[in-house]
Amino acid sequence: MDFLQDYLTAVKQKDLYRRNLTYEPIDAAHVRFDGKTYLMLASNNYLGLTHHPAVQQAACKAINQYGTGSGGARLTTGTHPEFAELERELAAFKGVEAVLVFNTGYMANVGTISALMGPEDVIFSDELNHASIIDGCRLTKARSVVFRHSDMQHLSQCLAQAPEKSRKLIVVDGVFSMDGDIAPLRDIVELAEQYQAMVMVDDAHATGVLGQGKGTAAHFGLKDRVHIQMGTLSKALGAEGGYVAGSRPLIEYLINKARSYIFSTALSPATIAAARAALSLIAQDPAIVAKLLDNAAFMRAGLRTAGLQVDEGETPIIPVIVGSAATAVRLADELRQAGLIIAAIRPPTVPEGQSRLRITVSAAHDQQELGQAIEKITAAAKRLGL
Ligand SMILES: *Cc1c(COP(=O)(O)O)cnc(C)c1O
Repeated sequence: MDFLQDYLTAVKQKDLYRRNLTYEPIDAAHVRFDGKTYLMLASNNYLGLTHHPAVQQAACKAINQYGTGSGGARLTTGTHPEFAELERELAAFKGVEAVLVFNTGYMANVGTISALMGPEDVIFSDELNHASIIDGCRLTKARSVVFRHSDMQHLSQCLAQAPEKSRKLIVVDGVFSMDGDIAPLRDIVELAEQYQAMVMVDDAHATGVLGQGKGTAAHFGLKDRVHIQMGTLSKALGAEGGYVAGSRPLIEYLINKARSYIFSTALSPATIAAARAALSLIAQDPAIVAKLLDNAAFMRAGLRTAGLQVDEGETPIIPVIVGSAATAVRLADELRQAGLIIAAIRPPTVPEGQSRLRITVSAAHDQQELGQAIEKITAAAKRLGL
């Protein structure tokens, strides 16, 4: 099995080697590592709800009442009442007919796309879509057409070239996970209507963030024109899991056809109870979402003022493009020594030559700490000549 070591040596030489570092969470914004405390700027825990007392108590109460594991898949062992409640509450929050919870966002994308699309069909996928969308496309026998990032002219050309009678699906990240920009959903919906295509939006980074927490479609006032709204419970909602929101026939179809839903043991009741508590906090008081966006704006403005190349965006995902994988890793290492956890993102997650620091901000951060982080990031970047 020499190929194992050969591969590992090759990725190390290209600065693309990946390893797990063990960080012990202290609260929603800090972790401990080797006896030292670090500020976490690499988490998608956008609202800090993993450590909200109401969310923690809901999970503990569910464990005490119902036990730990779910024991089986929902269609065989039975759906736990917590699931039924969460799906009802999430549908009401999103203003759709129905919702189906999957075990992860990854499984929601893979299961939904592969259930909807067959050999005669065409999928139109943004080139920067998340890996789980790409893998969903790969699982189908449908043709995948990759269009240039948020390039509506290119999407329009691709749609025009597809067979008129084929079933068509346009799929995009609502907020792109490594760039933090927002998909031009209004234009996408208009093209979709012109070419009779379905629209699917991945709200992994928009749930709890955009549209008062309701996602990208709500942000643009388009919820009734987006057919499939996928999202996660694992990021801003501080739990785990994925969901698909849409019409009742869509949800019934997925229950019958999505293999990642059918053939996997359900999440634990404690996870679902935590997600319900988090959702109820967001639904009752959007101030927490406003705090997140305020912190994101503070971080973006601070980095820009200090002279770093950062877009004027609105989301809490803030990339600082550095170019080579080696530089990204070096910068992330230096910043860790300075007390900041920031992810170095390299190929194949992002294109060659576009390695970056991916800074994520949370409502749990305080602006004094963010201010110190801005100084450290800027100083380290300048030392590397960026
Ligand atoms: C994180 C993410 C997913 C996967 O969600 P998980 O719950 O982590 O499996 C899907 N799409 C996008 C855009 C993501 O960032």
